[in-house]
Amino acid sequence: MGGVGEPGRGPGPREGPVQLGAPLPIYRWEQIRAHDLPGDKWLVIERRVYDISRWAQRHPGGSRLIGHHGAEDATDAFRAFHQDLNFVRKFLQPLLIGELAPEEPSQDGPQNVQLIEDFRALRRAAEDMKLFEADPTFFALLLGHILAMEVLAWLIIYLLGPGWVPSTLAALILAISQAQCWCLQHDLGHASIFRKSRWNHVAQQFVMGQLKGFSAHWWNFRHFQHHAKPNIFHKDPDVTVAPVFLLGESSVEYGKKKRRYLPYNHQHLYFFLIGPPLLTLVNFEVENLAYMLVCLQWTDLLWAASFYSRFFLSYVPFYGVPGALLLFVAVRVLESHWFVWITQMNHIPKEIGHEKHRDWASSQVGRGTAGGAGCSGGPARSQWARRDGTDARVRIPSPRPSPPPTCPGSWRLPATSSPPSSMTGSAGTSTSRSSTTSSPLCQGTTTAGWPRWSRRCVPSMASTTK
Ligand SMILES: [Zn+2]
Repeated sequence: MGGVGEPGRGPGPREGPVQLGAPLPIYRWEQIRAHDLPGDKWLVIERRVYDISRWAQRHPGGSRLIGHHGAEDATDAFRAFHQDLNFVRKFLQPLLIGELAPEEPSQDGPQNVQLIEDFRALRRAAEDMKLFEADPTFFALLLGHILAMEVLAWLIIYLLGPGWVPSTLAALILAISQAQCWCLQHDLGHASIFRKSRWNHVAQQFVMGQLKGFSAHWWNFRHFQHHAKPNIFHKDPDVTVAPVFLLGESSVEYGKKKRRYLPYNHQHLYFFLIGPPLLTLVNFEVENLAYMLVCLQWTDLLWAASFYSRFFLSYVPFYGVPGALLLFVAVRVLESHWFVWITQMNHIPKEIGHEKHRDWASSQVGRGTAGGAGCSGGPARSQWARRDGTDARVRIPSPRPSPPPTCPGSWRLPATSSPPSSMTGSAGTSTSRSSTTSSPLCQGTTTAGWPRWSRRCVPSMASTTK
């Protein structure tokens, strides 16, 4: 018995979630592709078709984030963004409407099959090497040196007075502290430090709110979209900067249509005037405040207020209000340079353009070519084989010999314990239902699973004794 979307019959009317035990309707990609509209979105995970049209509004990561994968195979994104897959799968069943026709490929659009297999093997190897486990000492020291710099800057002004030299020194120290806060809150936003997601979120709110004066939810809102669709216009907020700057394909499009809102032939010059100096001072501050007000993020607003209260109570006694404001602007401008150069070096050299519905691995490394991983290797079996080896619908790459993990030069990998017999991933849940707002724009922004930066290649004994 065929389903509503049986091959050859064209897309039929949607009948809602399938009943348990009932045969699954069969769909082709051409049918699924028609459901990538606002309010009508399907996607595919592990060859099963889900109707997320209504669920998107309740998605903890936000409707924009899940909507970016409309009419796509979202299997790898699903795995990358959720830590407790068994928990998240409970939410999938009511959305299930069918499965891919057996003759259909697992992915629609351009694919790099070898890269997909290698990527999954790499992830499997990284998990077995426990690269996703954080080192608490490292992050404790990271937070500790941030707090120490905040205290040191104030002590310099307190002990030496608000002269130009002590003030410049304090501004530099505060800028380093603020830049380090970006990194720490970034990892907390990815739920990469604590095993429990909630602890990551609370700590992120402290670092982002009390130590920086920004909204953690605002950051997650835009940053998760960035990781879901890096360098894709209108999906990755980090590259959606036209008409101020024209990046990648937008420069060609503006040229063909003769759009000229700014002297783009000089953007390589005015970039230095309004890019690095003003990103965090103007762009982020305005966007952040608007987000908190529109999305009613009152808790984040209170956290941010606590930062400004602390900062101005600390420095107004020495400088007065105008001087403290000047110090604040100086710190923001300095940290903004740090932030822009670090982040944009990862963006601008890569391809920037419109959605091409590439496979997950290709979309992450850009142009479909693997980036230079420091340490790679491991068994060339996909995660599907280990997690769901009995599912014949999922193609399992055959094992093939792979080189042992290697490190560059004289570096080596630390000794590993035996790989876990089953996939454990990162502990903690990746979904949060704490969102209290109704706007799709404001929902979600909770977690994603990314490697915890604790275990990397280390210098070999030979190199350290030289
Ligand atoms: Zn990130």
